[in-house]
Amino acid sequence: MKDYDKRSIAIERASILKSRIDDYLQIRDNILRGSSPEESENIEKRKINILDFFKASEEDWKDWHWQIKNRITEVDTLKKLIYLSEEEVEDIRQVEKRFRWAVSPYYLSLINDDKMNPVRLQSIPTFLELKDSGEMDPMGEEYTNPAGCITRRYPDRLIINVTNECAMYCRHCQRRRNIDTKDNHTSKETIMESIEYIKNNTEIRDVLITGGDALTLSDEMLDWLLGELKKIEHLEIIRIGTRVLVTMPQRITGNLVDILKKYPPIYINTHFNHPLEITQESKAACERLTEAGIPLGNQAVLLNGINNDKYVMRLLNQELLKCRVKPYYIFHAKNVKGTMHFNTSVDDGIEIMEYLRGYTSGLAIPTYIINAPGGKGKTPILPQYLVSRGKDYIKIRTWEGEILDYPNKPTLDLKKCLHRGDVS
Ligand SMILES: *Cc1c(COP(=O)(O)O)cnc(C)c1O
Repeated sequence: MKDYDKRSIAIERASILKSRIDDYLQIRDNILRGSSPEESENIEKRKINILDFFKASEEDWKDWHWQIKNRITEVDTLKKLIYLSEEEVEDIRQVEKRFRWAVSPYYLSLINDDKMNPVRLQSIPTFLELKDSGEMDPMGEEYTNPAGCITRRYPDRLIINVTNECAMYCRHCQRRRNIDTKDNHTSKETIMESIEYIKNNTEIRDVLITGGDALTLSDEMLDWLLGELKKIEHLEIIRIGTRVLVTMPQRITGNLVDILKKYPPIYINTHFNHPLEITQESKAACERLTEAGIPLGNQAVLLNGINNDKYVMRLLNQELLKCRVKPYYIFHAKNVKGTMHFNTSVDDGIEIMEYLRGYTSGLAIPTYIINAPGGKGKTPILPQYLVSRGKDYIKIRTWEGEILDYPNKPTLDLKKCLHRGDVS
């Protein structure tokens, strides 16, 4: 084939490729984005309004202790800060008898009056929480606690649960049964018991500190805990699970970063669900961590009305990469009582995955996970790319839907082949 023919084929192909994301490019700019100039301005205005209400200063806003202490927990306060109908006020009063709620002033500043606002849906109770279906502990976490505050479901890694406190109580929380009615850090004794367990089980090489929100612990407590863990020789990595990057980025102080830096390798996984949550402030907090050599990952939850949309998820994952946050998991929502209205079909999740692979950077593609009931483990779910599997050939499907044969050749015995000249 002549070179100019090859070039014209490539040009034609490029134009087809470009058209594959026409739909996305048209819709992208209509999705709320916390870092856009308009939204940044709206957030700033609401922040000033909230500060006025609390008679507080910019300095207060930047202080995470102020943010935690002034979490909005009463509907009489809330209705002065965001629009609530009489009906909504009454609903919140009913819900709070069963499930605690709280929102940091920062996270509240992302909310507008739209009932479908993705941050509002995640943080402000609605009457839908009072529906009776679902279970309190579908994961059977109470049956996977061999010692202290440990959850163990895997051979070489485990969770330690250090608190039930959060800057904001997600309305979709899978551990609502632990949220209770007041903040409760795990006692040092119980943590010590967990550390003993890790010491005595040398196959454990990875510990995940979570809660609640692990970064609601004080700097001193974190310093102590990380120090104790670091002393365990067979422990290779420490992970921290936290949503403060999303709900209270002020927590990522210089002092905290200095503490975390002392115990490498630490990985932090956070929980952004929508591009509206990626604001200038959260972006800056991500930067402080990555600059300290802490890799960041994101665990989103697939939530009805918030992000069960192929375009929203694509944008979310692309926006995360801009902050050097690697999309790690998308979790299918579990059947937890009080959160059932957020559940989606598995089809929604598969469609989202289908429109990531090929359409955008591989780096922007998390693994879609169903947590098998009864704590039987994370189970990855993919659209079907392996169509069939024979002895000599497999059938594959490409991201664009083309079906192709691909040879399934036997593996050479390399050691035998390389010894062909060996006389012995
Ligand atoms: C999710 C989870 C982990 C971590 O799983 P990875 O797939 O390694 O991220 C570890 N222990 C428990 C109990 C978990 O639920």
